[in-house]
Amino acid sequence: MHELNCPNCNTPSQFELKDHFHLCPYCSTTFHIDYATGRKEIFHDHFIVPNQVDAKRIKEIIVEWFKRFHHSPVQAESEFKVTQLTGISIPHWIISVDVHTTWKGYVTRQSANKLDPSPNSRYLLESGTFKRVYRWAVSARRNINEQWGMLRIHHPREEIHADWDGFPLDSTFSRGLLGAISPAEENKIHDRIYDAKEPFDFRFANGTKILSTQIDETEAIRRAQRHIDQYHLKLAQVQCDTLIDIQTDFDMAGIQLVHLPVWTGKYVYKPQGFLTHFTKYEEKNLLIDGFGAGVLQGELVLIKSEKMMINAWVTAAASLILIVLAFVIHPSFILAALFTTGVSILSAYLSKKAAMEKFDAEAKNDIAKGTLKLHAA
Ligand SMILES: [Zn+2]
Repeated sequence: MHELNCPNCNTPSQFELKDHFHLCPYCSTTFHIDYATGRKEIFHDHFIVPNQVDAKRIKEIIVEWFKRFHHSPVQAESEFKVTQLTGISIPHWIISVDVHTTWKGYVTRQSANKLDPSPNSRYLLESGTFKRVYRWAVSARRNINEQWGMLRIHHPREEIHADWDGFPLDSTFSRGLLGAISPAEENKIHDRIYDAKEPFDFRFANGTKILSTQIDETEAIRRAQRHIDQYHLKLAQVQCDTLIDIQTDFDMAGIQLVHLPVWTGKYVYKPQGFLTHFTKYEEKNLLIDGFGAGVLQGELVLIKSEKMMINAWVTAAASLILIVLAFVIHPSFILAALFTTGVSILSAYLSKKAAMEKFDAEAKNDIAKGTLKLHAA
C-alpha cells in the first residue's frame, strides 16, 4: 500500500501499488500514476452499472430458479439452501468494435459429379463475409477466477463452444432472466445495461464490493481482438467443411472502463425424507447478474438417476429369479433374493430423483442457449 493524494480533491488515501487505476474513496475520481515521474492523470472514461438487487431479492431469484428444476416446486424451497451470497462490482474494459470477416473454404457436394471423376469434383469452393458489432467485455482483473463462472461466461447462440474469457456485453448480461418476456423486451434489457451506466461513483455500488482495475486498455484491446478472431474463425468453420482462408478486420469505435455488478452464490441440495441418507451435501455455485437479475451461470445438482432406475429393474428381475431358484434348488437362494430386493428398492428410491437430472440437463441447455426464462422483477 502507498499513500497518495487524490489529483481531484487532494485528500490522501492508501492505494495498492500494483493497480492500474486508483479510485479516490472520497470523490470517486479514477486516476493513473506513473511512478517513474510521479505524474498523476485523471481517467474520465470510467463508468459503473448500478447494482439493482439486494441479497433478499437474489435469494428470491435463486428460489425461483430451484423451482424451475425441481419436480415438486413446493418442495424446492425447503430442499435447496443458499449458503453464501456476495455482491461484487467487477471492472471490465468495454471495447466497442465493428468486425468484418471474409472467409473462403470448401463445401462437400451433396452428390459427386459422375462425369468428372477427379477429386476436384467432390468439392465446391465457397466464400462469404459477415459483419458484427460488439461491445466486447474483457475483465480488468488479473485473476478472472476470483469469482466462479466468470472465466467462460460467453455462451454464443450458435453451436460453438467459447474457449475465451471475453464476452459481448449486451447479449450476455441479462441472459437467463426468469419469467416470460418477449424478444422485444429482452432487447430492451440488453440495451438498458449499457445505457444504465453512470460516471463512476462508489455510491452506485449499492452494497457490492468494488474491485480494483489491474489490467490496462492495451492488453484489453489485444485480448478482445484475439477472442473475436477465435469466435469468427469458429463461425466461418461452421459454414464450410474445410476453411482455407479467413481475414477479420476490426474497426474500433471506443473503449471504456465499466464496473459491472454480479452476485455469486453457493447452495446445497438437501432432499427431504428417505433420500436425505443417500445424498452427499456438496456446495454448488451460482452467478447472478446484479443489473437484470438473470442467472448467468449455475452449477446443477447432478444425480445419476436413469442408471438407478435401470439398476432397480435389473435387481428386481434378479430377485424374482433367485426366489424361483430358492423354491426349485435350495432355500439358501432366498438370502441372495433378499439382498437384491433391498438393492432394487434403494435404486427405485434414488431414481425418484430422475426428474431432477432431466431438469438439470434441460437447464444446462437453457443456460447455454440463453433461453432460460423464469421471472424477473
Ligand atoms: Zn478525491
